[in-house]
Amino acid sequence: MSSIARIALNRPLRRLFDYRIPEGLDLVPGQRVQIPFGRQQATGIVVETGVNPPAGITIKPVTSAIEPWPALPDETFQLLNWASNYYQHPLGECLFTALPASLRKGRAAEEKPEQWWTAVGTGEELPNNAHKQRALLAWLTDRENGASDRDITQAGYTRAQLRALHDKKLIEPHSRAISYSATTDADIDSRVPALSAAQVEAARELAPPGDGFSASLLYGITGSGKTELYLHYLKTNLEADQQALVLVPEINLTPQTVARFRHYFGDRIVVWHSALNDGERLSTWLKIRHGEPVVLIGTRSAVLLPFTGLKTIIVDEEHDSSYKQGEGFRYSGRDVAVYRAHLNGCPVILGSATPSLESYYNAKQQKYRLVRLEERAGNAQPPEICLLDIRSRPLEGGFSKPALEAIRKTLENGQQALVFVNRRGFAPVMMCFDCGHMVECPRCDTRLTYHRRDRAMRCHHCDYQTAATDHCPECHSEAFKPVGEGTERSEDILATTFPETPIVRVDRDSTQRKGSIQGILNTVNTGKPCVLVGTQMLAKGHDFPGVTLVVVVNADGGLFSVDFRAPEQLIQTLLQVSGRAGRGRVPGKVLVQTCHSDHPLLRTLCNGRYLDMADQLLAEREAGQFPPFRAMAIFRAEADSMEQGLTLLDSIKPLTQARGIDVWGPLPALIARRANRHRSQLVLNADNRKRLNFLLKGICEQLDQRKLPGNLKWMIDVDPQET
Ligand code: ADP
Ligand code: ZN
Ligand code: ZN
Repeated sequence: MSSIARIALNRPLRRLFDYRIPEGLDLVPGQRVQIPFGRQQATGIVVETGVNPPAGITIKPVTSAIEPWPALPDETFQLLNWASNYYQHPLGECLFTALPASLRKGRAAEEKPEQWWTAVGTGEELPNNAHKQRALLAWLTDRENGASDRDITQAGYTRAQLRALHDKKLIEPHSRAISYSATTDADIDSRVPALSAAQVEAARELAPPGDGFSASLLYGITGSGKTELYLHYLKTNLEADQQALVLVPEINLTPQTVARFRHYFGDRIVVWHSALNDGERLSTWLKIRHGEPVVLIGTRSAVLLPFTGLKTIIVDEEHDSSYKQGEGFRYSGRDVAVYRAHLNGCPVILGSATPSLESYYNAKQQKYRLVRLEERAGNAQPPEICLLDIRSRPLEGGFSKPALEAIRKTLENGQQALVFVNRRGFAPVMMCFDCGHMVECPRCDTRLTYHRRDRAMRCHHCDYQTAATDHCPECHSEAFKPVGEGTERSEDILATTFPETPIVRVDRDSTQRKGSIQGILNTVNTGKPCVLVGTQMLAKGHDFPGVTLVVVVNADGGLFSVDFRAPEQLIQTLLQVSGRAGRGRVPGKVLVQTCHSDHPLLRTLCNGRYLDMADQLLAEREAGQFPPFRAMAIFRAEADSMEQGLTLLDSIKPLTQARGIDVWGPLPALIARRANRHRSQLVLNADNRKRLNFLLKGICEQLDQRKLPGNLKWMIDVDPQET
C-alpha cells in the first residue's frame, strides 16, 4: 500500500493537503511537487511523508516531483516550521517565502544565462552624432567587471544602442560577470587598516564559529569600526568552503558597505534585496542552495534562504525596525537569525550603536554576551551633543539663530553640516488661519503633507494626492499656509541663507528622482563645504568624514507618544544621526532643537552614553509591564467599517482569558482609518511566551473556521513593532 504525503500550498490556509505518493517516487520534506488542485495543477512543498491513508477515501496522487532534491533542505525547512508556529502564520506561505518567484510558480530550478558586456574599443571611430552610443561605451569602460543586459537598461541605455556597439565590435559579450580579481593577502593588507587595540579586544571576545551556538551583542558606538570588525571576523574565522550571512537593514542605502565587503572577499560576496530581478534572485538562490561558499549581504528575507553550510550570521544595525516585516508573514529578520544560529550551532553577532531594548535585555540576562566597542576608530572623537531650547526663540523656517550661526561657522571653516528633519515634503500640514481648517486625507485619518516642489498635497499613508491650492478649500481665505517643517522647507531656508553653498536633500522623494542615493552623495564625497538635509535615511550607516556639525531641527516627536516604543526609537535616531558628525579628524558637534530641554531622556542624551538611556528606558518598560519584560501579540482587524472589526475582536476576547495574560481592547488603531479601511486591534500581553503561543494557536484555528465577509480581514502580529 502506498503512503501519503502532506503538502503545503502557497495560500493563506492553516491546513495541509494529502496526496498519494505514486509507486517509485521518493519524496522528502522540503521537496517541490506538482499536484492536481481543483481543476488545475499547483506547486506544493512536501511537509510530511509516510502518513497512513485514511480508510475509505480516494486520494489523488502527486503528479510529479519537480526536482529530485528538496528545495528547502532540512535546516531551512525546520527554521520555517518554527517561524510558522512562532508567528502563527500559515506554513505554506512561510515555506514559499524562501523560494524566488519563478520557483514558487513551479519552474525549473536552473538559470537562464544573462548576457554580460565589456568595452573593448575606445570609440574614436564613432560618428559625432552618436552621443548615446558614446555615453554607453564610456559607461561600460568605467566598469572593469562589465555589466549585464539588465544593468545596462537600468542605467537608461537601450538594446538598440547595445547592438550598434556590438556590430562595431566596440563591446564584447560574456556569459557571466567577469570575476573580481582574486584578492591576495598582500592586497588586503594595503586596503584594510590594522585593528585598533579596542577592536582587537572586541574581536577576541566574539566566539569563533567552531564553538557552536552563541549570540553576541556588539555594542559599538557610531564610527567605532563595527563593519571593520565584521570583515576581520569573517576573514579570520570563515573557512574556504563555508557560508556566511550578513543582514543589513536597507541595502540600497549602503552601497558603501557592500563595496567594503567586496574589497575583502571579491566575488564571494553576493547580495539579496528587493531591487533584484527574478533572474538575479534565482541565480543567487541556486548558489546558496548548492552550498557555494558565499558571503551573502542581504535584507530581512535573506535570513530565510536555503543555506547548506551556514557558519556565521551577522545582523548589522540590529535595532532597525525594518527587520520586522509589517504585513503578511510578520517575522523579525533579527529574531529569526538568532533562532537560525541556534539551529545551526553557529555564532550570531548582533551589532549596533543603539541596540534594541530586547537585545540589550537579553545581554543583561546573560543570554547574549555583551561586547563593547566604545572608542571611535582612527583618531576620531565622539561628538559633543547639546540641547538648544527653542521655546521662546524666534524661528526661521524651523531654525533658531544659534543653529544657523553654527552652520555658517562650519561652512566658513571649510567643513560640512547635516540637518535632520523627520518629515519629507515641505510641511506636515496646510492650515487655514481664518477658519482653522487643516487638509486631511479623504481616505485616512491623517493630514496631507504639502509638497511644494510638485505643488501637491500627499498622504504618506496611502497613495492619495491632490493639487495644492492657494486658498482654503473650506472658506476660500488666502490665509492658507503650510505649518511645521519638512525637508523641502529646510532646504529652501538653507538655500536662501547660504546661497553660495550646495544644499543636498536626501529623502525618499529626492532619491527616487535621482535613482539612487549614491549620485546624490557625490557632492558630499568631494569633501567640499555643503549642507546635507534629510530624513532618517541620513541616519543609516553612512560614513561622512567631512561632516562636523549635525542639527536636529526638532527632537520632540517621540517624547510624548502613546506608542511604548516611541522614546526608544527617538533616542536611537538621534544618536544615529549624531553619529554622522566628527568621523574625520575634526571633532563633531550636535545641536538638538527642542521645547523640552529639561526632559530626563534628552538630558541623558547629552552624555552620549546609549546604555545609560537604555537602562532608563528598560526601567520604564518594566514599570509599565511592556516587552521585553512581557511577550506581546496583537490581533488586528481591517474592515469597511470600524464596527465590523471591533465586533470580530470582541468575539475573540473571551478566548483570550487566561492566567498571566492581560488583554487590552479591542480599540481603534492609532491611525484608525487608512486607505478607507477601518483598523482595530486587540493587544495580548503575557508573562509567559509559551502559554501565549499556545493560546494564539487555538484562537487562530477557531478564527480560521469562521466564515467572514470578504471585506473583513484579521491578522496576528507577534512581537509587534507598531502598537
Ligand atoms: P561603524 O560600522 O561602527 O560605524 P566603520 O567600520 O564604518 O564603523 O568605521 C568607521 C570609520 O573608521 C570608517 O571610515 C573605517 O574605515 C574607519 N576605521 C575602522 N577601523 C579602523 C582602524 N582600525 N583604523 C583606522 N580606521 C578605521
Ligand atoms: Zn479656511
Ligand atoms: Zn491617505
